[in-house]
Formats: sequence, structure tokens, C-alpha cells
Amino acid sequence: MNDTFKHVALRKKLVAEIKKKGISDPLVLQAIEKVPRHLFLDSTFLQFAYQDTAFQIGEGQTISQPFTVAYQSELLEVKKGDKVLEIGTGSGYQSAVLNAMGARVYSIERHKKLHDKAKKLLEELGCINVKCFYGDGYKGLPAFAPFDKIIITAAAPYIPNDLLEQLKPGGIMIIPVGEGTVQVMKKIKKNPDNQYTSTDYGNFSFVPMVKATDWQIKSI
Ligand code: SAH
Repeated sequence: MNDTFKHVALRKKLVAEIKKKGISDPLVLQAIEKVPRHLFLDSTFLQFAYQDTAFQIGEGQTISQPFTVAYQSELLEVKKGDKVLEIGTGSGYQSAVLNAMGARVYSIERHKKLHDKAKKLLEELGCINVKCFYGDGYKGLPAFAPFDKIIITAAAPYIPNDLLEQLKPGGIMIIPVGEGTVQVMKKIKKNPDNQYTSTDYGNFSFVPMVKATDWQIKSI
């Protein structure tokens, strides 16, 4: 795949920028430096690939801003080998970043076209520890539960109970909660006694998490 010295240099600049904005986890910074974000964008947006902004990826959806990807990844406290459930594969960029951090990723997307495209790209990039699923993120993946970590990359109107149940005791969920244009980033910890603690981490803006209807999901 086409990843040039120019792209590598632009990524180094991007890493410096998000570091300045407060990201310090070396695993996150190394992953952002490693993953060729330009390959996750339509060619029309190539010149913007390494700016710290979100972009359209088709179907009315967006690839998150690199800072947001880094911020959620840092809050997730990823350890090598962690089993991570992601809701909202989108372009696949966040999955690739988690893969580069050493996580084993299970990612769900409700748009068939986006799912197909991301799955193919992640395979081509050799992200062997990412498994893509076409389905409804509200339901999670009970067959593969429990997960060490769960990350939701769309605006959730509430915290889905099915997802809380699929989190391991001691596990962490990062979820932007809220309807409308602004969401509050929440870090939910499932304590070993199965009680939850929740902490708020600032305002963000995501595309909405929408319930997939049965007719949309023909195979999971
Ligand atoms: N993580 C993505 C960001 C994608 S934007 C990236 O790195 O590019 C959020 C994505 O969540 C969109 O692709 C949207 O289609 C998807 N989504 C929305 N509701 C969903 C649901 N109920 N289940 C699964 N995916 C959903």
C-alpha cells in the first residue's frame, strides 16, 4: 500500500500536535505514528489526512478526529493482549490504532458498505488481530464476551445494558453519552464486585449511535 516518507513525516507532525493537546500514553502516540490514516480516507480528502480534524467517509458517517481517537484510546488504558469491543467500525482507523497498541479488537458496524470496506482495508494492512462484524452495536457480541475493554465511537443516547454486561469485572468502557450535538465522554469502570463507577471527561461531538433494524442485519 502507498505509504511514503512524506506521509511518515506528516504523521510525526500530527503526533507532536496531539501530544501538545495533552496525550501522553506512549502506546497511543506510537500507534498514531504507525497507522497510515490517509488510507482510511477517500482520495478526495488525502491532503487533509494528517490534519487533526474529522472527515466524511460516506453513508453520512465520519472518521473521528485523530485527537479524539487518541483521547478515547488513552482513557481505555489498553494493555497488550486486551480483548477490546469497539462499537462503530466506520473507516476502521480506530480499530487499526487499537491493533497497533497490541489489543485484540472485535469491531461492529451497522452500515454494510462501511463494514465491507473497513474489513477489506484492515485485512490488506495486515491487522490480523481485528475481527469485523456487521451488526447492531447496542447488542454487542455476547458470543465473544466478556471483554477487558469496550469503546463506543458513536454518540450513545444512553449506556446500553447489554454492553455493560459484556464487560469483565475490572474492565473499562469509554462511551460518549448524549443526544443532540454535544456528548459527555464517560469512563465506566466495572468493579470486581460488579458495581460500576462513572467519571466524566469533557465534551465531544460524535455521529449518533442508531439502532440497526432487523432487515438491515442479514448476517452477523
Ligand atoms: N471508529 C470510527 C468512527 C466511526 S463514526 C473510525 O475510526 O472511523 C461512528 C460509526 O458508528 C459510523 O460508522 C456508524 O455507522 C456506526 N454506528 C452507528 N450506530 C451503530 C450501531 N448501533 N451499531 C454499530 N455501529 C453503529
